[in-house]
Amino acid sequence: MTEAIAFEPTPLERDATFYVAGHRGLVGSAIWRKLEAEGFTNLVGRSSSELDLKDREAVIAFFRETKPKYVVLAAAKVGGILANNTYPVDFLSDNLRIQVNVLDAALEAGVDRLLFLGSSCIYPKFAEQPIREDSLLTGHLEPTNDAYAIAKIAGIMHIQAIRRQYGKPWISAMPTNLYGPGDNFSPTGSHVLPALIRRYDEAARNGDASVVNWGTGSPRREFLHVDDMAAACLHLLENYDGPSQVNVGTGSDVTIKELAQIVADAVGFEGETEWDISKPDGTPQKLLDVSYLADAGWTSSIGLDEGIRSTVEWYRANALSLRG
Ligand code: GDP
Repeated sequence: MTEAIAFEPTPLERDATFYVAGHRGLVGSAIWRKLEAEGFTNLVGRSSSELDLKDREAVIAFFRETKPKYVVLAAAKVGGILANNTYPVDFLSDNLRIQVNVLDAALEAGVDRLLFLGSSCIYPKFAEQPIREDSLLTGHLEPTNDAYAIAKIAGIMHIQAIRRQYGKPWISAMPTNLYGPGDNFSPTGSHVLPALIRRYDEAARNGDASVVNWGTGSPRREFLHVDDMAAACLHLLENYDGPSQVNVGTGSDVTIKELAQIVADAVGFEGETEWDISKPDGTPQKLLDVSYLADAGWTSSIGLDEGIRSTVEWYRANALSLRG
């Protein structure tokens, strides 16, 4: 089992240079908002057109010039099951290069504290539920996203190696399924929650009699609001200093059917829901054990109903106008 947690809290300096890699993404933008709200005054972000993290020379030059004291590495090539399955080379190669470049450059620049973000797909396909941190590398991966998972596992090992060889207090966190403002609402490319928000919202506005979701609706999934994730990241940076990656989730899951009902209620859809069982269910359950995080002093606070309601509001105010 992962070791017991007993670390002295080390508050981060609010005026130190803090680089958020991937600050335009779902997670990075939430971390940026959280840091601003917590009084950090020297945040640095670069869009991918300003700084290509796959370009080693550019990344090293950026770190030499900017000299951040703190870094969150939330930049990655991400995508749903279809993209991961179709472009495994891109998911492996791009993510490895981004990580190696940022971690090498951060080490050379003397970054004090760094948080590397992964994903729950690093765990074996048949890991015991809820999934504990020490189930890493105990079994085969889910084949549809194994290239992405291997890149993220390499990132965890890279952090552990840097801790061992250089004594740096750098850490890794592995979030469950995240949702919230800034999510990808594309009907084919998105994960289930934004897909349902879009589908039910459209049906409610059109006055449709029914909607059709994928699969049987019986798989269980865990969902964490990205603002909770951002709060967890800051908490870990200030309170955790261990080699094990830390799971970040709510500790509870719902069936896809229950999720669909919450979304239907949130958008005011009163019609019928049907299930297209020709579409895949995926793994029956994916729930993280979050007791290690609780030992480190953090638990989630945004309930699923509340989080979905506010995400629907954000979707209606922002994403609707951007839809393709
Ligand atoms: P997973 O957690 O890696 O399986 O990825 P998803 O978030 O894409 O899917 C979770 C579950 O939701 C699966 O059982 C899907 O079949 C189900 N689901 C139901 N409707 C949809 C939909 O419209 N889009 C997606 N992506 N999943 C759906």
